[in-house]
Amino acid sequence: MRRSGGFAIVRRATNPRSPPVPAQILDGRQIAQQMREKLRAARGQLGPQPIRLVSIEIGQNPAAAVYVRNQQRAAAEVGIEMEVRNLPLAATEADLLAAIRELNGRPEVAGVLVQRPLPPGIDPRVVQSAIDPHKDVEGMHPANMGAILYREPTLPPCTAAAAQHLALSTGMDLRGAETVVVGHSEIVGKPIAVLLLHRLSTVTVCHVGTRRLVDHTRRADILVVAVGKAGLVHGDMIKPGACVIDVGINQGPDGRIVGDVDFASAADVAGWITPVPGGVGPVTVAMLMRNTLRAAGATV
Ligand code: NAP
Repeated sequence: MRRSGGFAIVRRATNPRSPPVPAQILDGRQIAQQMREKLRAARGQLGPQPIRLVSIEIGQNPAAAVYVRNQQRAAAEVGIEMEVRNLPLAATEADLLAAIRELNGRPEVAGVLVQRPLPPGIDPRVVQSAIDPHKDVEGMHPANMGAILYREPTLPPCTAAAAQHLALSTGMDLRGAETVVVGHSEIVGKPIAVLLLHRLSTVTVCHVGTRRLVDHTRRADILVVAVGKAGLVHGDMIKPGACVIDVGINQGPDGRIVGDVDFASAADVAGWITPVPGGVGPVTVAMLMRNTLRAAGATV
């Protein structure tokens, strides 16, 4: 693979008889590990007082349990005390809001996090809006979401910040790069598009209304896929040498976790690609820890 102006060029693209050059794997676990080491150093500068992150979960969801464990491990490594509160499955929206308000008022709590999925009858937007925006370490309070239109806020949405960090980790010059984001959800697709727009990349957002997805994905230097549909993007939809960030998390037919991008075919064409699992997910957790330290006053 040759690199020109920060972009990877795959020789096979110009000579069909050349063997495919596999993409570089953007190893989210390794990148997250490096982040945690830096965060631990930043945490040390905050002094000996405990830094507390409180996670609230209603009932006990096996999928959420994996996330909570990963968050607890990352918190312990960085030096954050993570407290996990479980409300009974019968808890109402009012119960959850009361628990959040109590935590908002406790000065020793730096961050508050509500695990999803929430049971039916509880509106995630109402819940997220109830968290003090200064303790909203997931970066999903309307104040933090709104702030990204002006600039990157102190507490950006974690998955969007992770996608941006992974794109930057390639060394690509984002200025002027063609970026295509597939998926336009409030918590993932839209904030990713805005953060990459701030880097002066030229951003196209695709969604269910997009006529021919492939026409857009094929011109992307940076392709971010955040839909939740296994195999939505194949290698033949990717520009040779592109940076592919796969945000999707899906259960494959054999029960294994897979992304939205068909990894095998995409890795033959892309310049860089995130695996699933082990790509965006670990970096998202590291971003949660970064936001918690920022909420506690660290400059990191
Ligand atoms: P979501 O709220 O369901 O949003 C999915 C988006 O994809 C919507 O904007 C939807 O458009 C769009 N979409 C659906 N079908 C499409 C198609 N065929 N072509 C183009 N766009 C299409 O999901 P989300 O919360 O954004 O999450 C997306 C994926 O990321 C999920 O797999 C989720 O598990 C994963 N995720 C991963 C992390 C991580 O840390 N790795 C964090 C959060 C989420 P409409 O709304 O118009 O239908």
